[in-house]
Amino acid sequence: MIVASDNHERVSAAQRRSWQQQLSHAIRDPSILCKRLGLDAQWLTGAHTGHGLFEVRVPEAYLSRIAYNDPADPLLRQVLPLGDETLSPAGYVTDPLEEASHQPAKGLIHKYAGRVLLIASPTCAVNCRYCFRRHFPYNENSPSRAQWQDALQYLRDDPSIHEAILSGGDPLAANDRQLAWLVGELEKIPHLKRLRIHTRLPVVIPDRVDSALLDWLGGTRLQKVMVLHINHANEIDQAVIDACTQLKAAGVTLLNQSVLLRGVNDCVETLATLSERLFEAGVLPYYLHVLDPVKGAVHFDVPDDEARTLVTRLRDHLPGFLMPRLVREVPGEASKTPL
Ligand code: SF4
Repeated sequence: MIVASDNHERVSAAQRRSWQQQLSHAIRDPSILCKRLGLDAQWLTGAHTGHGLFEVRVPEAYLSRIAYNDPADPLLRQVLPLGDETLSPAGYVTDPLEEASHQPAKGLIHKYAGRVLLIASPTCAVNCRYCFRRHFPYNENSPSRAQWQDALQYLRDDPSIHEAILSGGDPLAANDRQLAWLVGELEKIPHLKRLRIHTRLPVVIPDRVDSALLDWLGGTRLQKVMVLHINHANEIDQAVIDACTQLKAAGVTLLNQSVLLRGVNDCVETLATLSERLFEAGVLPYYLHVLDPVKGAVHFDVPDDEARTLVTRLRDHLPGFLMPRLVREVPGEASKTPL
């Protein structure tokens, strides 16, 4: 793969920065993104239009894995805003999972029995164009320590809850002091057994897995599960494998969830290579989600019939333990719905 070679020296310098610096230096200008990747002018108008709906955000460590001058690159497709984001067919809405109706406390979403989701950070390291939370009202769900008390009390009062899921945004975009405090509060709740973290940061900026994170994560009494979000094998470079190795050494079970995306991974060979590469990194495939019908993302849609056919054919290529489960999240259902 030819990557953005004129960026190599700058990328290397960027990767020596702390993860916080890499986060704050992420590209947030669609013109710069197009220029750095050698895209011709025809992409600019759409990039600015999409950016106006959902800000572009691409850190250098992720940019370095994108091919130069290739608008079809599967990683670029995930982050490049397009004019297609203005399309708004019936059924595509701003809150496809109806999360607003499952928030008994600020920053807390309780949809499924036995587990709750905590919005631990309002931001992400990368803005994925298909994100089902691209319209989420993070401003109303970014609790301060004092405001977390309602959510924590909700957990204390319900002994049927055994698992807390840190989500966002990307929960690992929060600083380690805040996360260590929150996890410290969670582990005081006797009926909580597991801490699950849904994150893309160890993939997008692998330097996020540093000693400060490993300290609080490795030290908690809670069983630890990290669900990464990787959609294509090209996202898994050596730095990602090294980050995963460190997480596993800290006692973290690593799983992956992908979204089936038109033009990114809607191909049997691509999905098979992804599963193989995940396993090389010590990560088990978990879910393959069909697209949530979020406004602005219809161009990523793969129809259900095609998704089922893909997964049926995928079984011919992989052992069972490398097969992700094809699912859809249906508002109001008690769990993810297999397709
Ligand atoms: S990292 Fe996750 S939450 Fe953030 S934009 Fe991407 S898909 Fe959405």
